[in-house]
Amino acid sequence: AFENVPRAPDVPIYAVMVAYKEDTSPVKLNLGMGVYRSEEGKPHLPNVVRQAEQLLVNDLSTDKEYLPITGIVQFNKLSAKLIFGADSPAIKENRVITVQCVSGSGSLRIGADFLAKHYHQPTLYLSQPTYQNHLSVFTAAGLAMKTYRYYDPNTHGLDFQGMLEDLGAASFGSIVLLQVCGHNPTGVDPTPEQWEQIRQLMRLKGLFPFFDCAYQGFVTNLDADVLPVRLFIADGGECLVAQSYSKIMGLYGERVGTLSIVCKTSDVASSIESQLKLIIRPLYSNPPIHGASIVTAILKDREMYSQWAAELKVMTDRIASLRQQLYNALLDRGTPGDWSHITRQVGMYTLTGLNAEQVAFMTKEYHIYMSSDGRMNMAGLSSKTIPYLVDGIHAAVTL
Ligand code: PLP
Repeated sequence: AFENVPRAPDVPIYAVMVAYKEDTSPVKLNLGMGVYRSEEGKPHLPNVVRQAEQLLVNDLSTDKEYLPITGIVQFNKLSAKLIFGADSPAIKENRVITVQCVSGSGSLRIGADFLAKHYHQPTLYLSQPTYQNHLSVFTAAGLAMKTYRYYDPNTHGLDFQGMLEDLGAASFGSIVLLQVCGHNPTGVDPTPEQWEQIRQLMRLKGLFPFFDCAYQGFVTNLDADVLPVRLFIADGGECLVAQSYSKIMGLYGERVGTLSIVCKTSDVASSIESQLKLIIRPLYSNPPIHGASIVTAILKDREMYSQWAAELKVMTDRIASLRQQLYNALLDRGTPGDWSHITRQVGMYTLTGLNAEQVAFMTKEYHIYMSSDGRMNMAGLSSKTIPYLVDGIHAAVTL
């Protein structure tokens, strides 16, 4: 029955992961997939997450029966509070509906399906470039894709003028996907003043914001990083927000996230919740318990919350230090080129400026793995591996 099914190409970042696993070299280095690794290059689970998990295991009153279609009520409330802020007027006025989804990707998809079904404008603008899966998620939901300028390859920074021009030229009501902080793959975020200008322009043009938040706390701290979302909510307007706990709690494979829709009134929020249930039920019926229970245990307990914030800060500071160390090492080595963007860019990723051939060379000759667009997962590095990476980069750019 399936003889004529054509073979699909591999998903690029997973292909990098497989190639890395198959490489038998003892010096191999994985800077591909966006996961936080310890100084020893090992997967990292925050201590507070382990403790919360232990509490759950020891709690004999828990069971594994089905959750409601929209997930754990307390998890949704705490997640909304985490991103919108404890005193958010939108929460107080019951204008926000938050539903537990299958991590950031699943939340984006439920949001996309909702917009495709209930929003009048099917055009969605993505930053150029953006997270690889955005295009697939929104295309699968049937939205029409356009892009706005975002990254300037000459400065390795924000093309703010280009961004404003493209958003200014978008047709009224278009949806705009905005990454909240630690932009993937560029590591380039607008400043607070630029966010305010973006907000004014988007509200003026009736452009609909869809925020993707996968790195809250990975740039500065849990509050400062979500300033753009709070700015857009303070004006009383609407938006969608997808949250992921993959990176910020190390819960990647547990698939924990939320979709929030901020509405004009609580009546609208309640109708929207009923519609979200209709979208979720035929897809996977209801979300998984375990990961969201861990998050709930941490967010509801003042002490555990503080411990989590502190552990996250250690991770964030370590990434910033790795940026500085890599930059210094390239400078010391006299590697041609201006590498200052490595320290200017923020969050987990650096778009190095290395091209596909240079990346392929580094993989072949140095067993260093990264995305072919030159994106490097800074959190895959360590002080020990930086000298070797610098050897690889130096050889690649002086070929
Ligand atoms: N959004 C962005 C910008 C990302 O970088 C990622 C993961 O890399 C995600 C969403 C989704 O991640 P997950 O589905 O693991 O939560």
